[in-house]
Amino acid sequence: MMASGDYYELLGVSRDASADELKKAYRKLAVKYHPDKNPGDAKAEAKFKEISEAYDVLKDEDKRAAYDRYGHAAFTQGGMGRAGGGGGGGFAGHDPFDIFREAFGGGGGGGIFEEFFGGGGGHAGGGGAAHGADLRYDLEITLEEAAKGTEKEIRYRRPVACKKCSGSGAEPGSKKVTCQTCGGAGQVTSNRGFISFRQVCPSCQGAGQTIEKPCTDCRGEGRVMDSSTVNVRIPAGVATGSKLRSSGKGEAGQMGGQAGDLYIIIHVKEHELFERRDNDLFCEVPIKFTLAALGGSIDVPTLFGKGNLKIPPGTQSGTTFRLRDQGIPALRGGRKGDLLIRVQVEVPTKLNSEQKAKLEEYAEACGDPANPVSESFVEKAKNFFQ
Ligand SMILES: [Zn+2]
Ligand SMILES: [Zn+2]
Repeated sequence: MMASGDYYELLGVSRDASADELKKAYRKLAVKYHPDKNPGDAKAEAKFKEISEAYDVLKDEDKRAAYDRYGHAAFTQGGMGRAGGGGGGGFAGHDPFDIFREAFGGGGGGGIFEEFFGGGGGHAGGGGAAHGADLRYDLEITLEEAAKGTEKEIRYRRPVACKKCSGSGAEPGSKKVTCQTCGGAGQVTSNRGFISFRQVCPSCQGAGQTIEKPCTDCRGEGRVMDSSTVNVRIPAGVATGSKLRSSGKGEAGQMGGQAGDLYIIIHVKEHELFERRDNDLFCEVPIKFTLAALGGSIDVPTLFGKGNLKIPPGTQSGTTFRLRDQGIPALRGGRKGDLLIRVQVEVPTKLNSEQKAKLEEYAEACGDPANPVSESFVEKAKNFFQ
């Protein structure tokens, strides 16, 4: 379980606590709630886990920066991350930072990753309008939901425009002033040996102006973390890896820039009865050996309810039957999948004396086997032993 409370609050420290303060606060609480000291106390154990998780994140500089910026969303396994440019890629990683790496590696946006973790080219201080980053949300659904389509409410945290300063980053009433680093040019020149480089001013991000007094709510960033809710319609036929886009539901832009998009990546849970193969479903059903021999009909499960399957007399174990159109609908038109049912003939493991007598009678009535499977086997075995 993820801790739900704010990590700083859990540890009882302020958001700008030093590494030392964090360590002290954690030690104190850890001693108090340690399971060894509170045997059998589930509440204490849960608390111990929560504070350990909080400390685990906050003691790591990179993780702490991500938490400050994205909140719990940055660490929810299978939860939020920033979406890559277009790359799907694998996202099974338990380390939340793998998600970021993969997303950026694939999209070719290494620079964004650098910006995120570099910490240097900070977002405080205010600069020009910047497009908000896309976000991704990994959503797990059932096979039934994938087959029928569904609607889901997704809750997540994202940076939204700060209400106090309307996203400008400036404390209401304060002015913008010419950037002191670049003198308003938006660019700075740095010399390395005999070569000089021009680069975007790190203080104003190229805007040429900085905020006289940063907004106290957002510390000048123009954005604050807040929880958002979005309703997503999931069409029938989606599969693991299907990507849905919710436009404008990503990070708010900076200084009034356009918001990014939210990408919802579908993960279809495994089903205990059905295995999906493209749009076909596969299911194994046990039948009695008498039914296999004599024929008859049985009820079989389908994703959409109960179905009926005719078993012809003399059905062999492993025979696969096809129920048309009982599979998954095609996502973009086209034919619906089928349900493939493979029967497995069950041999009774316990016989009472009456059943045993009848079967012995049956065996006697058979004499030599006149069964197509064993006949062909006997032939093959003969050739083999020659
Ligand atoms: Zn603000
Ligand atoms: Zn500047």
